[in-house]
Amino acid sequence: MLKKSFFGLSPSRIAYELLPARQPEPDKVMPSKKVILFHGKNGNQNAPASFQTGDKVKTGQKISLFADDPAYVISSVTGTITSIAPHTGDFGKSYSAITVNIAENEVIDDQFKKKIQPPDLAGAVEFLSFAPGNPPLSALSDPETEIHTIVIIGADSDLLIGTNQSVVKSKLDAIKQGIKILKDISGIEKIILITAGESMQGYGHLGAQVKNIGTDYPAALPEMIMKNVLGEVVPAGKSCRDLGVFFLTAEAAASIGKAFDDGQIPVRKILTLVTKDGRQHLIETVIGTPIRDILNTYGVSINEEDRIIFGGPMTGSAVYSLDQPVLPDTDGIIVIDRSDAAYASSYPCINCGECVRACPARIQVHMLVRFLEAGHYEEGADNYDLFSCMECGLCSFVCVSKIPIFQYIKLAKYEIERAKTAEAMETTETKTIEATEATDG
Ligand code: SF4
Ligand code: SF4
Repeated sequence: MLKKSFFGLSPSRIAYELLPARQPEPDKVMPSKKVILFHGKNGNQNAPASFQTGDKVKTGQKISLFADDPAYVISSVTGTITSIAPHTGDFGKSYSAITVNIAENEVIDDQFKKKIQPPDLAGAVEFLSFAPGNPPLSALSDPETEIHTIVIIGADSDLLIGTNQSVVKSKLDAIKQGIKILKDISGIEKIILITAGESMQGYGHLGAQVKNIGTDYPAALPEMIMKNVLGEVVPAGKSCRDLGVFFLTAEAAASIGKAFDDGQIPVRKILTLVTKDGRQHLIETVIGTPIRDILNTYGVSINEEDRIIFGGPMTGSAVYSLDQPVLPDTDGIIVIDRSDAAYASSYPCINCGECVRACPARIQVHMLVRFLEAGHYEEGADNYDLFSCMECGLCSFVCVSKIPIFQYIKLAKYEIERAKTAEAMETTETKTIEATEATDG
């Protein structure tokens, strides 16, 4: 989290910043020697390895680590895998970090091109989940959820960031093609493009309704769009998808359109770098580029106790290595000098009520945080609406005691989800053992 003074904004009305109508092209920043790709699941370690150190990969090639592992990443460069190492992310999540050293000549993989005609949902899920914007396409093929509306967010979910605004301004043809492909592969006709504070009259040719949500933070979060645009409140513990609405970003929609147009999976994404002096730089870079390369390009030096935040100032997370790569959904990198960094304190809650007044979900945040600080996550969820939280970060921003409320909330949700998954796995294992014993007996 940043200090309030960093924005110079009043907590009672925090506004998204709009990009100018005419904006320069983003700076192109390329990786110097290598990219690092985070593979989200470690798969069955006993299954045969699909890729190992020394293997060569092409740009756009799928990399699954184990024979039975449906999870994959897309190589964003042509080169040689030089390491596959465990990596621990936020809240102890496990990844495999695949390092690819870049070859001199680029070769484009053609597996996607061979599979895309005619376009279908299975092919899109199979190849485009790692594209810029992280299209969450597998949710469209979930038989348990009936989606009737697709919402494309052309606004940016956090402050100081310009990715989706930039894509709406500069890649409208790709978005239009993405809308057409989404309709073809899903059969869903109702598509809404959301913009922030900008008139989109004259964009009727897109094949989508266009709605303006204004610039008040956090109007671009899905739950706020559900309420303000679609007139539906998402109940606690339910998701927008449970109500039949599928969200993706404008960058994800443009990636889908471009992929099917070019027969090639896009590997470059747009992000905003905010340097220590507060200047914003719109950048186009290759997924997997280590932040070290980006910071070197702008001459940013990192000293002890400086902060690097991935994401925006309200909801981003600190990273601790200059090898941290740009991910398909990294829309912002903020570098904060140690003298400007806000620190969490050990001050107790003084019951000032600022967090409650700021919370758009009307949660009794000051009560919720007491349970979460003590590690009583289930009680917090049951008694104080943890799962109504839409993760806007406003409570942390306004807290006079600088309690890291937002981090407690994210940790609590993660721990409850982890416990549920472990319980479900245990139940499945028990049933399997009982079934085997019954058969043997
Ligand atoms: S992050 Fe805080 S302010 Fe935002 S919805 Fe959750 S509890 Fe409310
Ligand atoms: S803003 Fe912070 S100090 Fe004030 S009531 Fe909320 S948690 Fe307590």
